[in-house]
Amino acid sequence: MDEFAIIQKYFSSAAQGVGVVIGIGDDCAVVQPPADSLLVMSIDTMVSGVHFPGDARGGCVGARAMSGALSDLAAMGARPLWFTLALTIPEPDPVWLEAFSEGLMSIANLHECRLIGGDTTRGPLSVTIQVHGCVDEGKVLKRSGARPGDMIYVTGCFGDGAAALTVIEKKLTVNPGCFSYLMKRFYAPTPRIAEGERLAGVASAAIDVSDGLYTDLEKICEASGTGALIDVSLIPSSDLWRAHVSEGQRLQWVLAGGDDYQLCFTVPRANVARVESMIEKRMLVATGIGKMTDKMGVVLVNDGNPYAIDQKGYSHFSESNCE
Ligand code: ADP
Ligand code: MG
Repeated sequence: MDEFAIIQKYFSSAAQGVGVVIGIGDDCAVVQPPADSLLVMSIDTMVSGVHFPGDARGGCVGARAMSGALSDLAAMGARPLWFTLALTIPEPDPVWLEAFSEGLMSIANLHECRLIGGDTTRGPLSVTIQVHGCVDEGKVLKRSGARPGDMIYVTGCFGDGAAALTVIEKKLTVNPGCFSYLMKRFYAPTPRIAEGERLAGVASAAIDVSDGLYTDLEKICEASGTGALIDVSLIPSSDLWRAHVSEGQRLQWVLAGGDDYQLCFTVPRANVARVESMIEKRMLVATGIGKMTDKMGVVLVNDGNPYAIDQKGYSHFSESNCE
């Protein structure tokens, strides 16, 4: 099966996306961005053995790569439009490719994000996705917009990514219900696109949490020139795996585990009532966990008492990951 046949069979889609003038098949894709909006783009690479286990099924790899890429658009308050895919595979395995394409497209279609081009090469398995989206001018959610006094919120639950990885590595055994929940959270973490769009123009800053809540909140603080105070007892985590681990371990995963793909965002006092009403009306699943301060750095309390964690989060080139 040559490169052309692979593209034809697995990566050409009949669905024509918004603003697609030329899709797959020419030297470049040509698109028409919506009038009066800014174009937002981000690229993400997932490498076999680093971002997913080497033996992960094609469907899981496709869904995870797409979900992770879309999560960045969510963090900017953007609406997904198009994506390009650079796929490197050791060999053209039809079963794997079919599943990969299905997993990838199922998540992309859910968010009406259209595949408009890519590149296919032979080599060690890796998946690179560049997503493109749009956002109204003036509504972009940046990391740098937080101010002292703003409230800090998070969407959904934390620690699922770390719990799932521990289960995948066979260091923790859980019951079947918990297992399927964790596998779904690991391989198809819901990108918070709808939440991001609702928060655009309402939140003052946002980030998608992929390296750990503590580290990613630090990035908001650094970009905004502020500090943060959060109460770790307020951060939601799933009851499904709670009973399997110590409280110290749970909080470590909640604060520093990667791969949760939730949003952490800050809200100016003037918009807090609006956000609370969105939460009440179930337009937004989010929880207040603290507030921004004028002292640099992230300070933790646990139910009011000072709290510290051992490891702060994930970084590809940090010493502790290079053993
Ligand atoms: P070129 O040699 O000009 O870079 P290619 O032969 O690599 O073109 O690709 C042919 C067409 O197929 C292009 O439109 C490209 O965007 C598209 N394409 C290649 N690989 C993929 C892929 N994995 N998914 C989607 N489109 C792809
Ligand atoms: Mg090429």
